[in-house]
Amino acid sequence: MNKDTGFFGHPIGLRTLFLTEMWERMSYYGMRALLVLYMTGSLAGFNPGMGLSAMDANAIYGIYVGMVYFMVVPGGWIADNILGHQKAVLLGAIIIALGHFILAIPVEQTFFLGLVFVVLGTGLLKGNISTIVGNLYGDNDKRRDSGYTIFYMSINIGSTLGFLICSYLGEKIGWHYGFGAAGIGMAFGVYQYIQFRHLLGSAGEFPNDMDESKRAGYIKWTKLSLVLMFAVIGCGLLGLITIEPRVFAENFAYFLTIVAGAYFLYLYSFAGLSPSEKKNLLLLFVLFIGAAAFWSGFDQSASSLSIFARDYTDLSVAGFIIPIGWLQFANPIFVVTFAPIFAGIWAHLARINMDPSLPIKFAIGLIFMAISFMVMVYAVQLAMVSAPVGMRWLLLTYLLQTWGELALSPIGLSAFSKYSPKRYMGQMFGLWFLASAIGGVLAGLLGGDATVDGLSSVQPIFTFMIQYYAVIAVLLIAMSFLFKSREKSS
Ligand code: GLN
Repeated sequence: MNKDTGFFGHPIGLRTLFLTEMWERMSYYGMRALLVLYMTGSLAGFNPGMGLSAMDANAIYGIYVGMVYFMVVPGGWIADNILGHQKAVLLGAIIIALGHFILAIPVEQTFFLGLVFVVLGTGLLKGNISTIVGNLYGDNDKRRDSGYTIFYMSINIGSTLGFLICSYLGEKIGWHYGFGAAGIGMAFGVYQYIQFRHLLGSAGEFPNDMDESKRAGYIKWTKLSLVLMFAVIGCGLLGLITIEPRVFAENFAYFLTIVAGAYFLYLYSFAGLSPSEKKNLLLLFVLFIGAAAFWSGFDQSASSLSIFARDYTDLSVAGFIIPIGWLQFANPIFVVTFAPIFAGIWAHLARINMDPSLPIKFAIGLIFMAISFMVMVYAVQLAMVSAPVGMRWLLLTYLLQTWGELALSPIGLSAFSKYSPKRYMGQMFGLWFLASAIGGVLAGLLGGDATVDGLSSVQPIFTFMIQYYAVIAVLLIAMSFLFKSREKSS
């Protein structure tokens, strides 16, 4: 049993990870809140944007969010086989900070390069830091689950800071100040991580044991892939390949879906799993679909919902017009408020033997999403009669979406750690983030469809979201009967 109790009864290394993740999420969410607004901002005015169409800006946003979570998969592989998780996090944090500083340069030419850096850095950091959290605890240490809960708090404190600081600076002073603030936040994270990395001890310090010649082969392939990748990215940035954002986003969504499907199929058919492990994998596959659908609505907070906030919502509070991004900190504040309540409800239901199965909890998450879009459809109708509408509609939407998040996100993470075949754990976490990747791209595509034509295009897309969530929720409820005995027996 690990006796280290230096951080709220948890190993002191958790403090290092908590603060690193906090600053990383501050920079990620802070910058993300500005992205679509900057891209769709008009070319003239005191704070000129890029003048892109809503369709293109949303597609780029979707590609960006999708890439961030997709890169977690190779990032995990590099940490497992080459760098070790601790070094991967350090390198990732430095690359993210550089990315934001590149975005802070007030010219358009370097914009996409900055995004590429943030994507690659997050790929190295996000999944690997979550793995080190688990490694801080011994195998039977009961504190692991609550360790992850504390870690989830750091994510939300970070995003609150990000919305607060980056949205204010970016919207009220200049977009690039907001991007720069994200870079400074991440730089605090890097400094802190370097200072206190030793507190992690050996957790995630070394890559997997293997023959050094095998590792040398892996390193060679990684270098080759990096060169190829930078060559393609370079051609894109220099304009030698033209990329149609919408078409690229659509193909990327197909690509991610095929990769995830093929990977589940591979694990099911060829990974030598026992019958019981196969049933667990099917359960995780069902949850995967629910999670991808969930994020496709949730991640519209910084796309269609931000545009609705900007164009059709009254943002004045006591004579001050608040930044558009400030509405989004409703989400992390509600998470911190309601997380203990949700945990208490699940624990109570478990005690009286009425704990809903995992697919049912996911269905509850999706039903909250459906209701949140009903609120939005109502708000859109009001705005059609007379805009701007009050901000209570978006706040209510975020409240419902946060309840959905709490029924799904922390639960999904622990389900993947509990039901994944042990020897594939790292890759299974990669799959969990692939659900976020698919959701992110879809959020960009759906957000684009919603905002292409002012309010008249919002209503049909949001109505579609309600139907789509209802259908998937019903499917999950139907599936839950198949898995009922499974969860009880394990
Ligand atoms: N809000 C969580 C985070 O930022 C989960 C996001 C996601 O998986 N899409 O870590």
